[in-house]
Amino acid sequence: MQRSGRIALMPSRKRKYRVDLVIPVYNEAEVIEKAHTQICSVVDKLPHEFCFIYVNDGSEDGTEESLRSVRQIDRRVTALSLSTNFGHQAALTAGLDHSTGDIVITMDGDGQHPPEMIPQMIELIAQGFDIVQGQRAEEARPSFFKKFTSDTFYKFINAVSGTQMVAGAADFRALNRQAVDALKAMPEYHRFLRGMISWIGYRSVILPYHQPARIAGHSKYSVGKMFRLASDAIFSFSLIPLYIGLSSGLLFFALALIQLSWVLWLAISKNTEHVIAPGWSSLMAVVLIASGIIMILLGFIGVYVGYIFQEVKRRPIYLLKKEG
Ligand code: UDP
Ligand code: MG
Repeated sequence: MQRSGRIALMPSRKRKYRVDLVIPVYNEAEVIEKAHTQICSVVDKLPHEFCFIYVNDGSEDGTEESLRSVRQIDRRVTALSLSTNFGHQAALTAGLDHSTGDIVITMDGDGQHPPEMIPQMIELIAQGFDIVQGQRAEEARPSFFKKFTSDTFYKFINAVSGTQMVAGAADFRALNRQAVDALKAMPEYHRFLRGMISWIGYRSVILPYHQPARIAGHSKYSVGKMFRLASDAIFSFSLIPLYIGLSSGLLFFALALIQLSWVLWLAISKNTEHVIAPGWSSLMAVVLIASGIIMILLGFIGVYVGYIFQEVKRRPIYLLKKEG
C-alpha cells in the first residue's frame, strides 16, 4: 500500500461526485450537532454532492432526537436506527449497505476524524485509488493505554495473519463504488473492516491524519468491546492458533519418544541407578504443562467452532428499527 505523502497530488480532472458520509453513532447526543456543523463547514465548500448517513447503533440517550433535529435543518441527512447496539462494525456495515454514492467516506461521529481530510480523500479517489485508508499519526494517539493496546494488537495480528494490516489504521476511510461493492459481497458475521479492507486488495493509499480530542463525552469502546474486536480480527483472519496446537503436539510427541528411548536403554543396560530417583516433581510438571497446553488448544478450537456456528446460522449482521 502506498503512502499519500509520496504521491504528487495532481489536480484531477474536475468531476462532480456523489459522496456519502457514513457516520455510526452510539450515545453521542451531546456531540452530533457540533460534529455535523464541523463536517458541513468543510464539505459545503466543495463542488460535490454530499449525503449524510447517520447510523444510530441502538443508543439509549437522546441520540435519536439529536439526529431528528439535525435532519430537520439539513435535508441531506438520513438517519438509520438499529434495533439494538450491534456494535461499531455492524453499524458501519448498515451505512455501507445503504449508500449509493460514487464515493463513500466512513468516519466517527465524535469529531475525532477531522473533516478537513475529506477534500484530500476525494482527490486521491479522483486520481484513481479505490481505497484511501486513514491512519492516526503517531503523536496524536489519545492515551498510553490505547497506544500500547493498538501497537501490540497490530504487531500480533500481522505476525499471525496472512493479511497485512496497517498499524494505526482507523475506520476513517474513503472507498469508491467498486470497493464498497466488494465489502458488501462479504456477508461474514464477525466483521473486522480494517482486515477486510486489506483482504479485498485494490489500489489503496494510506493518508495520515492528526486525531483531535473528542468534542464531548467519553469513548464508547469499552475494554470488553476492544477485546471482542481483537478476537474477531484474530480468529477471522488467522488459523495460526490451531497450528500452535499442531506444533506443540509434535514437540511433546518428540519428547515422549526421547523419554521412551531413555527408559528402554535403562532396561536393556540393566542400569537401575537412575530408577531410584523419585522424579515425582518433574513428572507432575510434564503432566501439568501438557494438560495446560491441551486445554488452551481445546479453547482455540472451541472459539473457531463457535465462530463457525455463528457464521453458518447466517444471521443478519444488524436489524433496522426504522429508516428516517
Ligand atoms: N460506536 C458505535 N457503536 C458502538 C461503539 C461505538 O456506533 O458500539 C461509534 C461511536 O459513537 C463513534 C465511533 O463508533 O462515533 C467510534 O467510537 P469511539 O469514539 O467511542 O471509539 P474511540 O475513538 O474511543 O476508539
Ligand atoms: Mg472516538
